[in-house]
Amino acid sequence: MALLLDVAFCALCGFPMYRRFTRVKGKDDYRWSYLYYGCGGRWSRRNSDCEAKSAVRGDKLHAVVERLLLAEIGPLEIMRTVKVAGVSHRAEIVELEAALEDLLARSAGKGEAVARVYAKRIEAVEDKLATLSAIPEQEPSVRQEWTGEKYAERWAAANEDERRQLLKASGIRVEVVAHKGGPMRLGLFERPERYDAAVALTVEDGMQVAMYLPRDLAERATGQPSRVTHKQRSLIAP
Ligand SMILES: [Zn+2]
Repeated sequence: MALLLDVAFCALCGFPMYRRFTRVKGKDDYRWSYLYYGCGGRWSRRNSDCEAKSAVRGDKLHAVVERLLLAEIGPLEIMRTVKVAGVSHRAEIVELEAALEDLLARSAGKGEAVARVYAKRIEAVEDKLATLSAIPEQEPSVRQEWTGEKYAERWAAANEDERRQLLKASGIRVEVVAHKGGPMRLGLFERPERYDAAVALTVEDGMQVAMYLPRDLAERATGQPSRVTHKQRSLIAP
């Protein structure tokens, strides 16, 4: 798995970047391969019209993304999403109600001694029903929890696959296109709703790279929710 699969997207059309290895023949017939990323729209022919014709070198892109990431969110603490199970005793209550009806039906018209036995059992079921009915129902939910660990720490200790998981779990989005001079270009495709603006943008090493953070993380990174929207305007303006 390459580091930026499902994390990097074509800056011009928004398709996920695909990866490819290109073999290079060196001295003494020594061969090695370079990882490249290219527009998945073009490579899959699902969007052959995309103007992002050139691939970008994986090692160069990884270095840029790492630098942008650590600069923007390295000192921030990682939050973890915790699933909270719901609470419901509905099924048990339905069962107890059926049992109660059954006991009532069977106790009807019985002699005094038998009726006393039934009465005890009925009371026990009624008590249990009352206890369960008093517990409020709760839908399953998720909540965010601090982990006590900073992005820079986790990144430094992680291997490539763990880094990719961290990028994905944190909702980090990278948009990239080869850049051979001229102005920066930002595709006007629909981005997922929680990405309002690039929080970091750079042109270097023949690439244009933008990093998007989900809104909550962007607000923590910039310390100012308004700056995010402002930045978006200044980036998209011609
Ligand atoms: Zn594209």
